[in-house]
Amino acid sequence: MKALLVGEYREGKLLESTYELIGFAQQANAEFELFLAGDKDQLPQVDSKVYLADAASVGEYNPTVHKQLILEAAEKAAADTIVFVHSSYGWDLAPRVALALEAAQVSEVVETTAEGYLLPACNAKLRRSVKATTGKTVITLQAGAFMAAEPAGTPQVEELSLDSASDIEFGGYEQAEAGGVDLGKAEIIVSAGRGVGKPENVEMIQALAKALGGEYGASRPVVDAGWAPHDRQVGTTGQVVSPKLYVACGISGAIQHLAGMKKSEFILAINTDKDAPINEVADVLVVADIKQFAPALTAKLEG
Ligand SMILES: Cc1cc2nc3c(=O)[nH]c(=O)nc-3n(C[C@H](O)[C@H](O)[C@H](O)COP(=O)(O)OP(=O)(O)OC[C@H]3O[C@@H](n4cnc5c(N)ncnc54)[C@H](O)[C@@H]3O)c2cc1C
Repeated sequence: MKALLVGEYREGKLLESTYELIGFAQQANAEFELFLAGDKDQLPQVDSKVYLADAASVGEYNPTVHKQLILEAAEKAAADTIVFVHSSYGWDLAPRVALALEAAQVSEVVETTAEGYLLPACNAKLRRSVKATTGKTVITLQAGAFMAAEPAGTPQVEELSLDSASDIEFGGYEQAEAGGVDLGKAEIIVSAGRGVGKPENVEMIQALAKALGGEYGASRPVVDAGWAPHDRQVGTTGQVVSPKLYVACGISGAIQHLAGMKKSEFILAINTDKDAPINEVADVLVVADIKQFAPALTAKLEG
């Protein structure tokens, strides 16, 4: 695979997701170069070529102009695979680029396989495996599905520019209305996973959160089952948090959950399975039944 990774830049900052693209390319053992509509003071730290279009002149968001620039970069890089993040920027641009290249477009890749790509299906209850049959492929990666690469290296910059009128004018960003609890501000979060077993047991997680002076959170299955409201969900499709203490109760540690909490300062995980993947990020793993451990710890704290 020879990939062109399309990095993201918003409100004057390089987005972390750019390192997930690099992580994907490294994991796929792909040769890669990057395209970024950004600025030279916010470059990714990576040892590869970066085709840089100055956002001050081409805009941070302009699908018509960025498409042309990406096509130019893809040609220079002789890329057979153009890779975007599955974000509003990526899902707007990817089909435009795919159409121009007469390439297959594969959206929301969560894994690569020997044959092609795995994508979520049926509201993520199933996965489907697809293979592109065109020479070139345009793909988008599900946020959090690939581990971000560590920032390291110095890019070799080639500047691109384009003086062309656009049929789209970017009006600016609008902050979505905040609703419910803002877990991003909590210093302590105790989250319930499917391992709590039943809806009534979420109460023991709430009690532990209260005893610790924090908020309670949840993994997606707990929210999908209606045991906790969506504003409590932590992960790629929930909130991204970085508290001082994160207590993961009966949570396996799927990549989409980790993407939402792995930057927590201290992670305590309680799980009956000592080999659960949460152990990879946990500072302390307690191998115990959460139904016994949570009430016992709450009682100790209250006492
Ligand atoms: C597009 C997409 C987006 C997603 N977004 C998110 C997201 O934002 N957030 C999110 O969390 N997930 C998300 N997911 C789902 C994610 O892939 C996992 O399915 C989910 O995180 C698993 O939740 P869990 O760890 O609670 O459940 P499981 O994976 O079922 O894990 C349960 C854990 O509990 C342990 N356990 C069982 N009984 C006990 C007990 N008595 N005491 C202690 N431990 C016990 C088990 O050993 C196991 O490790 C997303 C998936 C997709 C495809």
